[in-house]
Amino acid sequence: MKGITVTERTLSIIKPDATKRNLTGQINAILEEGGLRIVAQKRIQLTLAQAMEFYSVHRERPFFGELCEFMTSGPVLVQVLEGEKAISRNREIMGATNPADADAGTIRNRFALSLTENSVHGSDAGDTAAVEIGFFFAGIELVG
Ligand code: ATP
Ligand code: MG
Repeated sequence: MKGITVTERTLSIIKPDATKRNLTGQINAILEEGGLRIVAQKRIQLTLAQAMEFYSVHRERPFFGELCEFMTSGPVLVQVLEGEKAISRNREIMGATNPADADAGTIRNRFALSLTENSVHGSDAGDTAAVEIGFFFAGIELVG
């Protein structure tokens, strides 16, 4: 309905290709300038078991092994973003999965190296956002 604000939280990951190139500050600036607030954030190194569990929805896909190997190839920044329609807003700011299809100015258009090494992850719906936030953070760690 017009005039009603819908504040959401979404799980974002700055992926190893981006942490390796010291892009975390630039990406955070783009997220914040895009209207999203970083209400939790930590830099971690995923184990293979953690990556496989996080991406278990893709376990039957041909790229699953490559994806999990990439996600464990270096540190990641996991973060919770909050804002008006944060889930769809973050996906707009990220751009299309394949950087070749990503709109100009999006994070993936600017920084992604390939379909796999595409710099960022963002939850795709409310239910997956809740599960993904709970995978990495306790409620007490989210400080709006
Ligand atoms: P993410 O879930 O990371 O936000 P997405 O929702 O745009 O990205 P998904 O379809 O959920 O894309 O795929 C998860 C990730 O798997 C992609 O971000 C990308 O890193 C990798 N991936 C997806 N499709 C392919 C593919 N065909 N080949 C190689 N890697 C892929
Ligand atoms: Mg996805």
